[in-house]
Amino acid sequence: MVWLVCALLAVGTIGFTLFVRERDIPAAPVENPELKHLERRRQVLYDNLKDLQFEYHQGKLSDEDYQSLKAGFLGDLAGVMDAVERLEQASGVPQKEDVAAGRGKPKQRGGTPADAGRCPSCQAVNAPGQRFCGQCGKPLPF
Ligand SMILES: [Zn+2]
Repeated sequence: MVWLVCALLAVGTIGFTLFVRERDIPAAPVENPELKHLERRRQVLYDNLKDLQFEYHQGKLSDEDYQSLKAGFLGDLAGVMDAVERLEQASGVPQKEDVAAGRGKPKQRGGTPADAGRCPSCQAVNAPGQRFCGQCGKPLPF
């Protein structure tokens, strides 16, 4: 009887594990295969640049060769980075960038100019840049 319970428990555990695995699998490949390819390419370019610098410092490359090869790698790298950025923006990542850019805040700052020309003593609205109130003649604090 104990044996049967153990066997059922084992089967249940394996079944549960497999069940969870199956659900987990669709979550992982959210990683864009194109993005993975680009990241591998970026890594290869970094390695190439490192090798290039190494060879240059060893005197195996002329200044001219080094500069032109380096420019080529850097150009490729910039293209890869651009593509990665575009892909990341196409997927769910931009949300984080919106928060980082603080897009709500400039609006708040844009709200204050309504009061910018207001005189503190008579509340008259003056043109921006004016140093004295057009209504009461008192100096404006901005
Ligand atoms: Zn005033």
